[in-house]
Amino acid sequence: MIECVLTPRRSLSEYTSTVGEECIQELRELAKPLCGARVLHLNATAAGGGVAEILKALVPLMCDVGLDTEWRTLQGTKEFFQVTKAFHNGLQGMPIQLKSNMKETWLKYSSLNADLLSSNGNYDFVVVHDPQPAGILWLLRQKNGHRNPGIWIWRCHIDLTTPRPNIWRFLKPYVEVHDAAIFTKRQYFPKDFQGPRCFEVPPGIDPLSIKNSLLDDGEVHNILLRYGVDPERPFIFKVSRFDPWKDFHGVIDIYDLLRKEFPQLQLVLAGGGAGDDPEAWSCYQSTAAYAQGKGDIHILWGDNGVGSPELNAFQQAASVVVQKSIREGFGLVVAEALWKGCPVVASDVGGIVLQISHGENGYLAGSVNEWVEAITYLLRDNETAGRLGSAGKRLVQEKFLITRYLRDYLKILCALTD
Ligand code: UDP
Repeated sequence: MIECVLTPRRSLSEYTSTVGEECIQELRELAKPLCGARVLHLNATAAGGGVAEILKALVPLMCDVGLDTEWRTLQGTKEFFQVTKAFHNGLQGMPIQLKSNMKETWLKYSSLNADLLSSNGNYDFVVVHDPQPAGILWLLRQKNGHRNPGIWIWRCHIDLTTPRPNIWRFLKPYVEVHDAAIFTKRQYFPKDFQGPRCFEVPPGIDPLSIKNSLLDDGEVHNILLRYGVDPERPFIFKVSRFDPWKDFHGVIDIYDLLRKEFPQLQLVLAGGGAGDDPEAWSCYQSTAAYAQGKGDIHILWGDNGVGSPELNAFQQAASVVVQKSIREGFGLVVAEALWKGCPVVASDVGGIVLQISHGENGYLAGSVNEWVEAITYLLRDNETAGRLGSAGKRLVQEKFLITRYLRDYLKILCALTD
């Protein structure tokens, strides 16, 4: 058996005051033809990173609208996750030498998981997330003499703007046997992709989660104090997995320039690892070393990420939230900050550009100068910061809540059964 992740029950009706009765009715209508369908979400980890965050919210709602939905995580060892992180890095454009033992490891664990999955019975829909489980369908077909075990969807959360050809060439035949593929942006659709029907769907955040519900000021104040952050002085906040793509060093460089003009400014960096990310601890250590002697920097670490109440408090209280990424499939952390009405400055890359229109609900920045200018402006001009923050919240309400994501999934599942 592949391990099943248990999620608390959630009722769609709890979302009525946030999204309106009409939206709830629409979701229930859309789900009717799918009632009782067995759905499996398969990914690499139950904790840490965006995919786990999304599934925590999505799976209970899929259940509530009548789909018999399970979430299972792959079995793998450190060796396997080192290979899959290398695939992840290669798909995001990092040069990776693809050695034969890497291919063997990936196929060995894909085969093991395919065998384990066979004992779970049949599903009507299987959604496999990212490259880690992407070989399982191909192997099942080899093992079962090409019988089609339900409708399979590859959900790729990665920024596929510039995949390394050697990694993509290797993975492509495995991915291409899927019936459909979902990408966060149309620009990520692989040019030479044959087979799966492709859909463009960005994810969404859960407005009712502990991370995204409004905290009262006293609670926020206490959390800041608990972590040694002075609530009376401004601070910049960034949260991400500790991962080279999230450019923590770059944020420290920008803070180092800003503190000359704003000597009171603090920097809070929060993050952690994920079950499938073997690089996080070394990235954290190198960030901590890099921050030495560079001012009032607070670095928070959690094995599976810093906890939700803490992140919520820091996002609510920050003068500016920054998301400096080299690549970013979507960047839930951006939507989470926008939802709290916080002014955001973020890199002009990947899925972030779906969430920020420069000057309307935040700022996009590329060069160091652009970063320093944008943050300086927001630190000086509270009115603009407030206006951008309110626009950010409206955008998330309209486009990036989990209910919109559920609606897109329901539509895709219906379209695939037609
Ligand atoms: N996260 C968290 N604690 C941390 C770091 C990240 O809870 O210490 C959460 C974050 O709030 C967001 C998710 O992990 O919900 C990260 O998703 P995102 O799409 O931003 O990036 P990914 O990790 O998928 O690359």
